[in-house]
Amino acid sequence: MAELKCKAECCTYNKDECCCKGDIMVGGKHACNSDDTCCESFAERRGDSYSSAMEHPSRTISIDCEAAQCKYNTDYKCYADHVDIHGAGANDSRETACATFVER
Ligand code: SF4
Repeated sequence: MAELKCKAECCTYNKDECCCKGDIMVGGKHACNSDDTCCESFAERRGDSYSSAMEHPSRTISIDCEAAQCKYNTDYKCYADHVDIHGAGANDSRETACATFVER
């Protein structure tokens, strides 16, 4: 499980830079750099929907990841100790990125 810090404050699962979703999927099958990745689990917060989703913010999270070119990726699972997801002001998953990506 990675320690996660997420800057995508407009995501419905984001609470104080922690993720409340429990597990996430990072996209970027052909990623060669961080900008080619994104958090596929991003869901834009709409009013007070999903409020129950924010009850369990967690610092650690399980990450499935498509970015097979990343050195932390083994069998589409992330094994980094710490992961930073960028996406300040993002309203769509494409505006997020895994800043921890390092090409093999
Ligand atoms: S650090 Fe690498 S393996 Fe982990 S989520 Fe980011 S891109 Fe995927």
